[in-house]
Amino acid sequence: MPSFFPADDHNQTLRIKRFLMALGSYAMWLGLATFFYVQGMTRVTFDVLAISAIGILVTNLMVYITFRTGWNKRFKDPSLTLAQMIIGTFWVMVVIYYADRMRSVVLLLYLVVFVFGLFRLRLMQFLFLSVYAVANYAAVILLVLKTHPESINPQIDMLNIVVLATVLPWFSLVGGYITHLRDKVSRALTTIERLAIVDDLTQVFNRRQMFKILEHQKALGDRGINPFSICILDLDHFKTVNDTYGHEKGDIVLKTVAQEVQKNLRDIDHIARYGGEEFILILTNSGSREAMICAKRIRTTVKELAYDSMPKDFRITVSVGVTKYQPTESIQDAMNRADKALYRAKAGGRDRVEYEPTAMDRV
Ligand code: GH3
Ligand code: MG
Ligand code: MG
Repeated sequence: MPSFFPADDHNQTLRIKRFLMALGSYAMWLGLATFFYVQGMTRVTFDVLAISAIGILVTNLMVYITFRTGWNKRFKDPSLTLAQMIIGTFWVMVVIYYADRMRSVVLLLYLVVFVFGLFRLRLMQFLFLSVYAVANYAAVILLVLKTHPESINPQIDMLNIVVLATVLPWFSLVGGYITHLRDKVSRALTTIERLAIVDDLTQVFNRRQMFKILEHQKALGDRGINPFSICILDLDHFKTVNDTYGHEKGDIVLKTVAQEVQKNLRDIDHIARYGGEEFILILTNSGSREAMICAKRIRTTVKELAYDSMPKDFRITVSVGVTKYQPTESIQDAMNRADKALYRAKAGGRDRVEYEPTAMDRV
């Protein structure tokens, strides 16, 4: 069934919600115009009302179709804010034209249009819209002067233009500043979101994110789709690196290993820092065979790595414990098995990969 909002596009839904806000403003516009018509003090006739209503409906239907077909994504600003504001300004002009002596008060409608641009438009766009609105207002006054000169009061209409030409640029300054602040907050939020999931030193996922991914993989694995495997990777004799070269150099080694291992994984696999010099690899869509191939490849890669600011022949090795996730078991049980395999790799002399079978592997 076709729905009003796209089912799986959060950004488009937000844009359409803002469009609905604009529709609300048009409803208000029509309410006011109807009031003018009923009250009879302006030149708003039934025809003006009906044609405007149809015009508003058609222009907004076009905007909605642009959103719903995704055509808006081709534009620099897919929210079409400026375009919608230009259309809105046009309809303000229409009511100003017919409002006769009431037009001073109708100028308030401009604020409704400008508020729509808050958080979105940059200073220059606001200024452009100000100039556009003042020029349009002047044009409407000239038009009225031609068609209904009796309703023109040169002093008041001049005053209106001066007030508009002063207030709108000022509003633009404030509006542009608010948009600038929004951008800053939005960038800060992106940084915070990243900090919440990434380990500061190694720039791979942190422990919290690792458990989140594991829970997600478990949910898939428990439904019988997407088997996955876990590797625990521990740097061999890392304490000696710190003791010999210092903690700072140790950090460089740690970071380099993490980054290089990440480069060596498929996009659908994950590496996370489990703690200290231990990392977890989550290999999606991988059974024991694929996981062992991957773990061995990584062991060789690390063994051959050279490091900035370390002696040329400095090398480090890793020991890896591998296991496959067995559907419905707890994450902890799987991790314990991988740890057991790691222990065997260490006990067996390090620089090696060991596999710990699941109960199902044994039958
Ligand atoms: P093994 O082969 O048995 O794993 O020996 P190891 O020396 O690697 O293991 P151990 O657990 O004895 O020591 C781990 C060392 O890792 C000790 C700790 O100072 C160091 N380490 C943990 N986190 C960091 C870190 O963020 N930076 C640095 N430079 N060192 C760290
Ligand atoms: Mg170690
Ligand atoms: Mg360790």
